[in-house]
Amino acid sequence: MRTTAVSGPHLEALLKILELERSKGYEDVAVVGGLDRYLRNYLKKAKDSGESSSASRICPPDFSYAALTRDQRQQWAEKTRRSLTEGPASKEIPVKKLSAGPAPVKQAPPTPPGVTLDSPITAVKGVGPSTGPRFARLGVRTIREMLYFFPRRHMDYGNQRHISELEVGVEQTLVATVWEARQVNLGGRPGTEAIVGDETGNVRAVWFNQPYLARRFRTNARLVLFGKVGVYKGKKVLESPEWELLESEDISQANMLVPVYPLTEGLYPRTVRGLMKGIVSVWAPQLGDHLPADVRKRCALMGLSGAIQQAHLPDSAAMQNEARRRLAFDELFLIQLGVAARKMEWRETKASAQFRIDDALLRQFNDSLPFRFTPAQERVLKEILSDVSQMRPMSRLLQGDVGSGKTVVAMAALMLAAANGIQGALMAPTEILAEQHFNTISGLLSRLGPSEGESRLLVSFNSLPPYPFVMALLTGSQKAAEKRRIQKMAAEGAVHLLIGTHALIQKSVEFRKLGLVVVDEQHRFGVLQRSALRQKGTNPHVLVMTATPIPRTLALTLYGDLDLSVIDELPPGRVAIETRWLEPAQRQAAYGFVRRKIGEGRQAFVVCPLIEESENIEAKAAVAEYKRLSEEVFPDLRLGLLHGRMSAADKEAVMRSFKDRQLDILVSTPVVEVGIDVPNAVVMLIEGADRFGLSQLHQFRGRVGRGEHKSYCLLLADSPSFEGRERLKIIERTRDGFLLAEEDLRLRGPGEFFGTQQSGLPDLRMARLSDVALLEMARGEAIRLLDRDRQLKLPEHRLLAKEVARVWRAGGEAG
Ligand code: ADP
Ligand code: MG
Repeated sequence: MRTTAVSGPHLEALLKILELERSKGYEDVAVVGGLDRYLRNYLKKAKDSGESSSASRICPPDFSYAALTRDQRQQWAEKTRRSLTEGPASKEIPVKKLSAGPAPVKQAPPTPPGVTLDSPITAVKGVGPSTGPRFARLGVRTIREMLYFFPRRHMDYGNQRHISELEVGVEQTLVATVWEARQVNLGGRPGTEAIVGDETGNVRAVWFNQPYLARRFRTNARLVLFGKVGVYKGKKVLESPEWELLESEDISQANMLVPVYPLTEGLYPRTVRGLMKGIVSVWAPQLGDHLPADVRKRCALMGLSGAIQQAHLPDSAAMQNEARRRLAFDELFLIQLGVAARKMEWRETKASAQFRIDDALLRQFNDSLPFRFTPAQERVLKEILSDVSQMRPMSRLLQGDVGSGKTVVAMAALMLAAANGIQGALMAPTEILAEQHFNTISGLLSRLGPSEGESRLLVSFNSLPPYPFVMALLTGSQKAAEKRRIQKMAAEGAVHLLIGTHALIQKSVEFRKLGLVVVDEQHRFGVLQRSALRQKGTNPHVLVMTATPIPRTLALTLYGDLDLSVIDELPPGRVAIETRWLEPAQRQAAYGFVRRKIGEGRQAFVVCPLIEESENIEAKAAVAEYKRLSEEVFPDLRLGLLHGRMSAADKEAVMRSFKDRQLDILVSTPVVEVGIDVPNAVVMLIEGADRFGLSQLHQFRGRVGRGEHKSYCLLLADSPSFEGRERLKIIERTRDGFLLAEEDLRLRGPGEFFGTQQSGLPDLRMARLSDVALLEMARGEAIRLLDRDRQLKLPEHRLLAKEVARVWRAGGEAG
């Protein structure tokens, strides 16, 4: 066997070179001029001497050794050596797929006439008028978007176990028969329990908060289950596994990694999988690769079409990983291109105004405050003042934990603008937040001098010596006449500070001289919305603020166009919010505690569990929880409900009545608004707390503890996984938002920061920002490319320019 395979002198030489290459650590140094040149020569010679079939197996067209990563080289070399010494391999060597040349595209069926990648998905056979809107709910409208609609995960049929072999704590796939499925109470809430069995035994599976599954699992139905096995009361149990009803033809999976797609009402796993398979096979090969070939080669990246195919239907875990790497690189690279270009441009513009720093005024402002600035606030204010006194416009991100006092710092800068005869604007994502700012700032200023409140929306401080200061509120729900009047004043320059919502960026709003723009909770706005506000002036100074702590490395990369300031300490004397993780058995006690606090005149939030399937299902679950709490648990109290399917006006109305103390308890899906200040709310009860990331839990917790009363955060988790428990323990003892963010990154990766809410940036579906190396590579390549072709005008960048426009457009609109 061994000797028969090596059939020619050229093969023997190649084996020697591979051996040498191995001993040198796969640095491509075994032959002068690199292995690629040698291989090309070898191919030619092999062909001449009749060794060509094995030769083409080793290096198919487009193969480039130089473009492989070291791991890939090693893999390739080992496979090749094996195939050369042990005879023809039983399977094709997958080198082709690791190649960084043009995509390893599978044979493409023809595309239907008149249909393009940008056609609506209903143009595809099998996508009917009822399926289209369902995909639309998942954000998928065109065929191209369908290709980028990636599976949440893959069920690994290769890791299939019998029930007797199930291991605790490991992800496994199981094919079993349903003996019994019923709706049960799990930790006080409705869920589903099923007993399933195979020829080696039975096991219990449970799904929290999904009572409707009981009806779908008929006795004797065959199920594929995929998930981790836990232990409950000494017995193994599958906790909320992925599931699928099995039909006979499924078992003959040619493919061991079966995609599991995000679903919504009316879309079922089998349908989606079938559709996707068809679409990917026809359309993925039609994608032009927007990455320039040199970038792809330097970074050893798979071609686009192949990567899309492998991301959906991977041939192996290794291929899946390569695909992810390519697609993740794309996401980061496209972000970097946008961000770096903006920074370059911005750097070259001239600010509309250079502020003169009036120390006397700042001192006076400082003295009027009922507190002293923390050292962190002082430092950040200095950074801001130094920016606004420059010729270049400020472009700064201010991060600070909830309650760290960002508003006052921004206020100091806004007042300074007024003193310089320049207008300022402060934009917040909701009317309540805008009003809150308006009230806070008038409160602060009224200590400086008496105000003349002309209306609830307009206040002037005439004795703020020696400057007059007029501020106004502009929101969508104001009367048209009021809006017009305020707009007129802003246009004439009679208003110095305009505070508002999206209303500020309407066409009808003009400023006479807008020189400072502040955006609060900036992640709630799209890139385009922020730039729309910026464009109300000519290169105004811009300060964007966020309470979502993002680790520094990450922030610098994602917000590479901004300079960064951090308020990393809370004002002294804040009473820590007591955080407790409770056992399910303590749920009644928790309710008792809520009731007692309400008896003392306080208020409480209840946050419902995160349900990934859809906002609709999430809303339904919240409605059910609201009903249960108001009818069974707190029938005598006043409860309100907040969820994502409500209109903006209804949301505002509910939040307002909660703020005005017309409600005792606000039951909410995880949409509960950021930044809202209800000082009288002292309990934050979070259901399904184990399913949230630490940063998100921290945000929820920040909704309480905003007044003088001691506040509490109660965490309920029905049956947390190992990681879930880990997180709950950390949030119980840590109150530093940045530490929590780092922990989140460590435990869950960056998805936490960049969920659907992260509307300012193109979607990150594949990128994991813990992958710092890839990120740096993308950043470096972006800068290199822009240095050569800032406008992306070169013909070889045509597709890339299109892609940049596409993702940034989508990112902006989402806000
Ligand atoms: P955030 O950073 O969450 O926007 P705010 O600016 O709303 O925080 O401040 C939260 C509260 O803390 C406000 O009531 C504010 O007046 C108060 N505050 C701000 N700075 C200080 C400080 N240095 N000392 C004491 N209280 C402060
Ligand atoms: Mg704030």
